[in-house]
Amino acid sequence: MTAILSNLQATREAIAQAARAAHRNVSEISLLAVSKTFPATAVREAYDCGQTAFGENYLQEALEKIDALRDLPLEWHFIGPIQSNKTRAIAERFDWVHSVDRLKIAERLSAQRPANLPPLNICLQVNVSEEESKSGVAPEEALPLAQQLVHLPHIRLRGLMTIPAPAAGEMAQRAPFARMRMLLEKMNSQGMSLDTLSMGMSHDYPAAIREGATIVRIGTAIFGQR
Ligand SMILES: *Cc1c(COP(=O)(O)O)cnc(C)c1O
Repeated sequence: MTAILSNLQATREAIAQAARAAHRNVSEISLLAVSKTFPATAVREAYDCGQTAFGENYLQEALEKIDALRDLPLEWHFIGPIQSNKTRAIAERFDWVHSVDRLKIAERLSAQRPANLPPLNICLQVNVSEEESKSGVAPEEALPLAQQLVHLPHIRLRGLMTIPAPAAGEMAQRAPFARMRMLLEKMNSQGMSLDTLSMGMSHDYPAAIREGATIVRIGTAIFGQR
């Protein structure tokens, strides 16, 4: 058995176990395989093991892989920081963008999304740990930004994404994820209809699933150390 196959199987089993512990249906949780820095051959191997959704952070690297893997029915998610001169290629080549934190970027993505494609799925990145250096909007800015985005025609606001400050132990890891779950519930009670919480990476995804993650973004545990 290859490393990618056994890693994927172990990850899927751990997701199912965390779902059971949270009394959630495992079908509510999707696995996004983060393939940044790994070659197209590794993505193809993961696809052969049944994985179809892949996350990338660096546009140039991602576009090369997307081109090399055109023959496969893959779903591509952009999860890295976005500069405004990169929005056109992102709008044209990706299915999801998890890292929107400014109105201007959302407006450009909507304006540049080709009319023959379905709306681009968007998550707002929230700086839940309120770290100085991190991208993402402050939690209290998420609703006002969301209210501006919902009117843009060629994007579809799906939910929230976060990368919390590192914490050790499942209880400490759960606290920021719980804040995200409550923020999403509050936004939905104020007129939004969001169905996505993109949260949890290799070191903390069981904690994120316990708090309602619907997409976990996992790189190292599938492809190995970068
Ligand atoms: C790299 C990255 C991941 C995956 O991280 P791992 O620790 O390798 O699982 C998830 N989300 C984002 C935004 C990333 O940049």
